[in-house]
Amino acid sequence: MSGLSITGYFPFKRMKILYQNIHHEDASSALLRMTPDLRYTPLCHQCGDAAATIHSKGHPRFIRDLNMANAQVFLQVDCRKIWCNRCDGVRVEKLDFADASVRVTRRLARYIYELCKKLTVKDVAEHLDLDPKTVKAIDKSFLEESFGQDSLDNLRVLMIDEIAVHKGHRYMTVVADFFTGRVVWMGQDRNKKTLDAFFKNLTKEQKRSIEAVAMDMWEPFINRVRHYLPRAQIVFDFFHVVQGFGRVIDQVRRSEYAKAKGQNRDVLKDSRYLLLKNEENLTDEQRPRLAQLLEVNKTLASVYILKDQLKMLYYWSDRTKAQQTLDDWCEMAGQIDHPAVKAFIKRLRFFEYGILNHADYPIGTSMLEGINNKIKVIKRKAYGFHDDHYFILKVKQACAA
Ligand SMILES: [Zn+2]
Repeated sequence: MSGLSITGYFPFKRMKILYQNIHHEDASSALLRMTPDLRYTPLCHQCGDAAATIHSKGHPRFIRDLNMANAQVFLQVDCRKIWCNRCDGVRVEKLDFADASVRVTRRLARYIYELCKKLTVKDVAEHLDLDPKTVKAIDKSFLEESFGQDSLDNLRVLMIDEIAVHKGHRYMTVVADFFTGRVVWMGQDRNKKTLDAFFKNLTKEQKRSIEAVAMDMWEPFINRVRHYLPRAQIVFDFFHVVQGFGRVIDQVRRSEYAKAKGQNRDVLKDSRYLLLKNEENLTDEQRPRLAQLLEVNKTLASVYILKDQLKMLYYWSDRTKAQQTLDDWCEMAGQIDHPAVKAFIKRLRFFEYGILNHADYPIGTSMLEGINNKIKVIKRKAYGFHDDHYFILKVKQACAA
């Protein structure tokens, strides 16, 4: 007779395994019949108190457990209903290895959660032969436990930015901790009301601890930050400023192209890339083309130099020097007669406080780019992401890793 026993693989307290059935020729499923160990008083699943009396017996529950070898394992547990004094009613007895309303054991649920960190819900569902809805619900409940509560204490410097969801037709706003990169909060849209939902959750003290916020020059966000954090310094992100000027360069290039004739026109053709890319990233073939372009077109040469000089606005840790550099830049740019450049100068002047603040708080939102990339990966794995809350939990999980 074999000494092999499988009972050791089911170390469930307060339970006795009565027998096991291996089904099908290929042993692709197994049923373990279990019964409560009568030496223990049953507990209420809701409050955990010991039962006052047993109400009724023989309520079978079928619970899926981890696979064994090739077999899907099902536990058939004959549960009891009890009278609970604290709950003042009839309740199902508590099982140590499975939650009351879940059809899988806690250890299978944990396994599903771990798999969902790497695989799509659909993959996990197929792998375990479960309904995708079940897999998603389990993943979500674990995520809720770990990331459901926004942790809002000890925030000193925040980054706020928008992310495009669904090919840019919809936006979400992300608030992250500058020092840790942790996603603190996410919400729908990027309008004036969006950040209300975040700030309203903060206590007075939590608000007071926030010294600075890095963001884009985006009025709805600026407005709300000023409203809720009147003492916090707003710092406009350098790369957003450069990006804004990139659009200016492109408009100047187009106007110049329209004006150009003959050979100069050929030089300007397809030059967008040359002007917007960082010089060090140009190929050996592109570099002489850029030089030629700047040679034949003085206006483009000027905006190109201005683009390079923009980074000097973010160079100083001394406000006076930063102010001087900004004034110089605007004066230089003012010599270019183009509406897009004029509009940019006006905007820069209007928002200059948030550029000068960079001298005191050298912060930006570029770390959110990394978060954005993680979000793209999550979107690719999308299942059930019409459920925004689930999506947000997944993002928080990915960024905490
Ligand atoms: Zn109870």
